Amino acid sequence: MADIFRDAAEVVGQLKQNGYEAFIVGGAVRDSLLGRRVDDVDIASSATPQQVVQLFRKTIPVGVEHGTVVVRHRGRSFEVTTFRTESDYIDHRRPSAVSFVSSLHEDLQRRDFTINAMAMTESGEIIDPYGGRDDLTNKVIRTVGKASERFKEDPLRMMRAVRFASQLDFRIEAETLSAMTRAAADLTHISVERKTAEFEKLMAGTAPGRAFRQLVTSGLFRYLPGLTPYQQGLVHIDADGFLPLHKNAERWAYFVRSMAISDETDWLKRWKLANRLVQEIKRLTDVVRTLGHQAWTPWLVYQTGVDTAVSAERVRAALHERTADTERIYEIARQLPIHERKQLAVDGRDLLGWWDRPPGPWISHCLEQIEREVIGGRLENRKEALKGWLLKQKS
Ligand code: ATP
Ligand code: MG
Repeated sequence: MADIFRDAAEVVGQLKQNGYEAFIVGGAVRDSLLGRRVDDVDIASSATPQQVVQLFRKTIPVGVEHGTVVVRHRGRSFEVTTFRTESDYIDHRRPSAVSFVSSLHEDLQRRDFTINAMAMTESGEIIDPYGGRDDLTNKVIRTVGKASERFKEDPLRMMRAVRFASQLDFRIEAETLSAMTRAAADLTHISVERKTAEFEKLMAGTAPGRAFRQLVTSGLFRYLPGLTPYQQGLVHIDADGFLPLHKNAERWAYFVRSMAISDETDWLKRWKLANRLVQEIKRLTDVVRTLGHQAWTPWLVYQTGVDTAVSAERVRAALHERTADTERIYEIARQLPIHERKQLAVDGRDLLGWWDRPPGPWISHCLEQIEREVIGGRLENRKEALKGWLLKQKS
């Protein structure tokens, strides 16, 4: 077992030695059975948050009202959540009250999909009351219990279904998909931020094309920001283009360019993305647009900045269905004599001293000329050389 499971088993063991029930649950069980990398392990226990806090040296009370305490153990965080059930939902959003229950089975029953509703004991034994293991083998997303009821309780689960389908390259079981189609409009009760989080995970998955088609088939796309006009685009998008992309901003940029969305900034803001992210995406799409098919030159890399250039190259390559040549950009960057204007051997004050002219935009203009020469390798970045060149230009 991977290290993280050994550490988690110690936390489970400690709970059990103190008379509580405890199991590893949810995504960690699913991903370990799939042989996927596991980064966090959740634990479900009969111990209440207070009892968990008393038992462990280092705890963080992150969500005590939901029954969750983080236990720090061997430098890792484990979320320990008291067995619970979520029965009474108010307006589709949040459980009106979290009631703690005494059994693991009830806890598993409230979970969304069969593949997420398995538990693992300290010794690695799997508890699987809803056939999650079979669904993993058959690559199926299926709700625990009646799909229509589960989506009524929490419509976000519909987005989660599509997101997991993309991450795992699973299909959505027929009854589950048909319930989604009927309940799609309930997605309006879910906050944009939560839909956005799922959409971003979906774009980052291994089968985004399948997920986009599921969004269309189910009609969910109509309840996602700004997607209604792009039904055809969603069906036909070249989703393989997402696979080599590294960052969230690159995926959004690829998406808006693939869909030929014109009012990019406004459109992105409808997803309530952070302003910084919107700026980053806009910068990428601008660079891709102005770049066209041009090859990277030292001047282009310098002006764009290495990180943006590399990201833009990835997006452009995806749009042109070719492999990104990021190595070329790094190569150019390694050979740049300077990386920013501040590194020039002259500054505005030098120029003012050499010329008998009042300050104005000419200074910046002049510095840019020098930059171009230095970056182009035609001029050495030494004060004397630059001064000599400037005086020659002047005459
Ligand atoms: P990942 O963290 O890799 O995205 P995960 O399965 O761990 O996947 P989380 O959102 O972290 O997903 O949720 C942890 C577990 O909690 C899930 O595996 C599932 O059992 C349960 N769960 C999460 N969200 C819901 C929900 N909306 N309805 C029912 N159960 C849920
Ligand atoms: Mg998780």
